[in-house]
Amino acid sequence: MNRLSWKLTGAILMVVVICIGFMVYMVNLITTSEFSQYINQSNMARVQQIAENLSDFYKQEQKWAGVDNIIDELLWSGNSRIVVADNSGLIVGDTDDNWLGQYADDIALSNGTSITVSGKEVGEVFVVASMYRHGHSANAMTVIPLDTTQQDFLNQVNRSIWLAAVIGVAVAFLLGFLLTQYLIKPIKALGRGASHIAGGNLKYRVKVGSRDEIGELAQTFNSMASKLEMNEQMRQQLMADIAHELRTPLTVIGGTVDGMMDGIFPTNSERLGTIKEQTVLLTRLIGDLRDISLAETGQLKLEKTSTDVFELAKRTLSKFEAASKEKNINLLIKGPSELPQLSIDPFRIEQVINNLLTNALRHTPAGGSISISMDMRNRSQQFDKKHILISVADTGEGISPEHLAHIFDRFYRVKSARSRSDGGTGLGLAIASQMVQAHGGRLWVESAQGKGSTFYIALPVNSPEIR
Ligand code: ADP
Repeated sequence: MNRLSWKLTGAILMVVVICIGFMVYMVNLITTSEFSQYINQSNMARVQQIAENLSDFYKQEQKWAGVDNIIDELLWSGNSRIVVADNSGLIVGDTDDNWLGQYADDIALSNGTSITVSGKEVGEVFVVASMYRHGHSANAMTVIPLDTTQQDFLNQVNRSIWLAAVIGVAVAFLLGFLLTQYLIKPIKALGRGASHIAGGNLKYRVKVGSRDEIGELAQTFNSMASKLEMNEQMRQQLMADIAHELRTPLTVIGGTVDGMMDGIFPTNSERLGTIKEQTVLLTRLIGDLRDISLAETGQLKLEKTSTDVFELAKRTLSKFEAASKEKNINLLIKGPSELPQLSIDPFRIEQVINNLLTNALRHTPAGGSISISMDMRNRSQQFDKKHILISVADTGEGISPEHLAHIFDRFYRVKSARSRSDGGTGLGLAIASQMVQAHGGRLWVESAQGKGSTFYIALPVNSPEIR
């Protein structure tokens, strides 16, 4: 039994006990007062009846002598006393006898009920509580205390109310306990889920049984667990990819050095060139990894300055002139004469264009062409802000649809068997995409196998603040 369920049960019980206790107290009070009032009213009716009986007696006898004999029979409760006074106030009848011969006024008896015969008052009857027997002054019609039967009845009613209250509290305790268990169950399940996740069991999911707030919490918990699981898988995949990427050049370097040391290979510039090539690849890989991890964690510092993107692209393209000439590939750039300056980090955007041009050159056969075009665009389906659209198109081999969806993934390469020094690390497009996103823009591709590829960079005209 955990503490929360006891707390909830206790709270429910406390509320129930307070409510029922208050209710019982009020019901007792009201029952007692209503019952006494009812008894009192019936007493008054009886007194009226007594007055009529006495009136009949007087009518018959024309005097009060002998009244003592009948008043005893008129008494209906051991708690009361009947006193009859004649017209002058002289007490002529008393069920307790000891006021006989005294005057009502003398013993402060007042508020009696008149006894009339043919409209003429012949005397008065006083019904008083029997506690006035012992010589106290008495006021007739003083509330006559309940007799034993009446008191017993009232006590019985009050006892029943208390019993009902106790049963009510017991039922409330039981229901409160069951209700608490029912409410606590999903919270306990969430607690179990949290300990599983904390213990590394990221596949654990909580059963979502309701649509209330706890159900929503369970759903959020499950999506959090899914995200954690996915991140963990990605982390493991990334580690494996990095290890794989590092191992290849290191194996080449290690093998070449071993071969040279064992005298299998001569130590010449060709062998040293191989080692150099692999170290360049390693350095590039480490640089790429650093960039992508900074971009993915939002820590990439952009040094934005107002930049003429067309000039930037032209400058970048010119660096590829020698390589393209060597491969007999035509380079082109076109754009409108006036374009607004953009607040961007020129080094990072150059890096993006550079990656796209490197890929284009790598995948375009001799005789093909690579062109950069640039234009101002309003919001479109691909990008919903006013932007400058830069496209880098080639007439190369293109990308098949099954690869197209993945080429922006880290370490994804269409032909993984390609030589590492010739091909890239599989990080180029992932980095380019992150860099563009860091500028609040978007990078996407359109390509058909055998027909070339066009990569589009959309850079918003009002760039968001540096992340
Ligand atoms: P890499 O650095 O290995 O080139 P990228 O992330 O830059 O990695 O590219 C991922 C994959 O996309 C590459 O393996 C390549 O096959 C494909 N690719 C990228 N650009 C082009 C292009 N212009 N034409 C054809 N395929 C391309």
